[in-house]
Order: sequence, then C-alpha cells, then structure tokens
Amino acid sequence: MSARFLDGSALAVQIRQALRDRIAEFTARARRPPGLGIVLVGDNPASEIYVRNKRRAAGESGLRADLERLPASAALSDVLACVHRLNRSEPHDGILVQSPLPAVMGPGALQAVFDALDPEKDVDGFHPVNVGRLVQGRATLTPCTPSGIVTLLERSAIRIAGSHAVIIGRSDIVGKPVLLLLLQRDATVTICHSKTPDLSAISATADILVAAVGRAGFVRRAFVKPGAAVIDVGVNRVTDAVQAREILGIGNPRLADFERRGSVVVGDVHPEVAEVAGALTPVPGGVGPLTIAMLLANTLRAAEMRLDQSSNVLRDR
Ligand code: NAP
Repeated sequence: MSARFLDGSALAVQIRQALRDRIAEFTARARRPPGLGIVLVGDNPASEIYVRNKRRAAGESGLRADLERLPASAALSDVLACVHRLNRSEPHDGILVQSPLPAVMGPGALQAVFDALDPEKDVDGFHPVNVGRLVQGRATLTPCTPSGIVTLLERSAIRIAGSHAVIIGRSDIVGKPVLLLLLQRDATVTICHSKTPDLSAISATADILVAAVGRAGFVRRAFVKPGAAVIDVGVNRVTDAVQAREILGIGNPRLADFERRGSVVVGDVHPEVAEVAGALTPVPGGVGPLTIAMLLANTLRAAEMRLDQSSNVLRDR
C-alpha cells in the first residue's frame, strides 16, 4: 500500500482564498481591516521565521498585522504591559504572543501571558476561558494547529465519527485540544505520552493516528494499522548527517538540502509509514500551512465578534 498524501499547502491556499473575500466584506463594513498584534520577544531564529510567515500570510489576505518586538532582556512585566496595551487597542482584534519566551523568564511565564490576554482577542485559544469553552464544546476561538488538523481530516473526507483516534503527545497546545476536537466529532480517543506502556501496540489500533511528539522519525511502521490516516504534527530540525540519511533514505532529493544548509526539517513520522498508512501528511506542507490559515480565520472571527458586539451596543442605546 502507498499512502495518499494529504496536501495541507493546497488546502491552506483554498481556505485563505475564501477568507480573503470575507475579510474584504468585513473591511467594507467596519471601514478598517481586521487587525492582529503579534508580540515577539528575543531573537529566536525559528520564531523570526514563523512570525515573518504569519505576517506575510496576513498581509496577503488583507489583514493588518503589527509586530511588537521586545528584546531578549525584556522582563515578564514588559511583555504583560505590551499585552495590556493590545487588549485596549481599538484596531487590534487578535493578539498572538510567539512562543517560546526567553527561558530566563521562567517556566510559568507563557501561561502568565496567556492569562493576561483579553479572551475575546485570544486568537491562539490558550486563555483559560477559551480552554474551558473548548472543554464544554462551545469554543469560538480554538487553538490553530488542532483546528488545522481537524479541518484537514474533514476536508480530506476521512471519517472521524465512530473512528478510534490515538494521539501521541499531551501538550496544552496540540495533544489536549486535538483530543477535545476529535471527541466532539464523535471519535473514541486515546491520548498517549512518555509514560505510556506499549505505545506502539496502542498506536497500531488507531484509525486516525496523530503524532505530536517532537522527535524526528519517532513513529515507525509497527505503530500504524494498515490503511490508517496518520497526521504528522512534528517539526524537527535534524543536523546530524547519519540521522538525516536514516530518516530521509539514500537518494531522497531532500538530502541535497541537508548538504547545502547543514540541516533539514522532518516530522515525527518515519517515511516508511507511507508504505502502510492509507493517508499521511507530509512535513513540510502538511499541518504547518493550516496552522497559519486557522490563525487568519480566528483573527477574522474575533474581529467579526467585536464588530457585532459594538453594533449591538449602538442598537440597544
Ligand atoms: P511538547 O510540549 O514537547 O509535547 C510533546 C509530547 O510528546 C509530550 O506530551 C510528551 O510526553 C510526548 N513525548 C515525548 N517523548 C515521548 C516518547 N518517547 N514517547 C511518548 N510520548 C512522548 O510538544 P508540542 O508543543 O506538543 O509539539 C509537538 C511537535 O509538534 C513538535 O515537533 C512541535 O515543533 C510541533 N508543532 C508543530 C506545529 C505546526 O504548526 N506544524 C505547531 C505546534 C507544534 P510527556 O507529557 O509525558 O512529557
């Protein structure tokens, strides 16, 4: 068997095209575009690339995206002050704080920042109010990568209701929200983590297997039931030539990228899985582009909700 590749890039283009029309409609109605404030702290090279891509995608779709840049030496209170400013800012409907924050801020810093966000502008869906709404099945702003995963499954006509989904990884930003979104769509869901015994045997019972582990090539053929849909969330930069050759396979054209750049990005799923899975997302070009499309969708949704609220206030006066 050879897996059908689920083209996240192509789907993201379609979604962004549809959003462009709605964004134009909003802009005409509100006489301003939906606005996103992005907070970037420090100079993490990967974060710079993520933020650049998000701003470019926002601009191409007709959104306003402003960058608030803070130095690596910034204190947590500086980041919180920036968030409070954006909470009060009229033209900003959404706020995104790029993670990770500098390690010196401590392990609780990111959660403190999420807690400080206005839940109505929390386009990442990480504020406790939005997490609670997601648990109760009435979220309006759902986390971007998990929403992208579910959208990709639905738009690829992969049956969720009645299926057994196994998620490897229980993080707050990927594993847990994916669990909730699949549960709401009537899947039976198992979530695994680093203390799960017999991980490969459990994974091999999945109709839908979601790998969000952060380990290059972790999911091997034995983890996968023949015909299963496998969603590879991992983004892992491999710098070791032996590991790159082992994962990509001799003759893979991406090895030339490795030779040129000294590194290559691979997923959590080993390419040998394509021989047994029914469907598989590539890395890059699978879940990643959908994460950005969902961010744009959430920003538009936040903007529409704010506009409707202010129209209601005016009408009720
Ligand atoms: P994370 O917070 O580090 O969580 C990783 C999870 O994997 C944890 O629950 C951990 O278990 C589990 N795990 C680690 N080693 C394991 C092992 N040997 N066996 C079983 N489980 C194991 O990572 P994350 O933020 O969820 O991200 C996961 C991956 O997705 C990363 O590669 C990240 O870069 C990528 N990502 C991609 C996107 C995108 O847009 N494409 C977005 C977000 C994240 P414990 O809880 O027991 O430690």
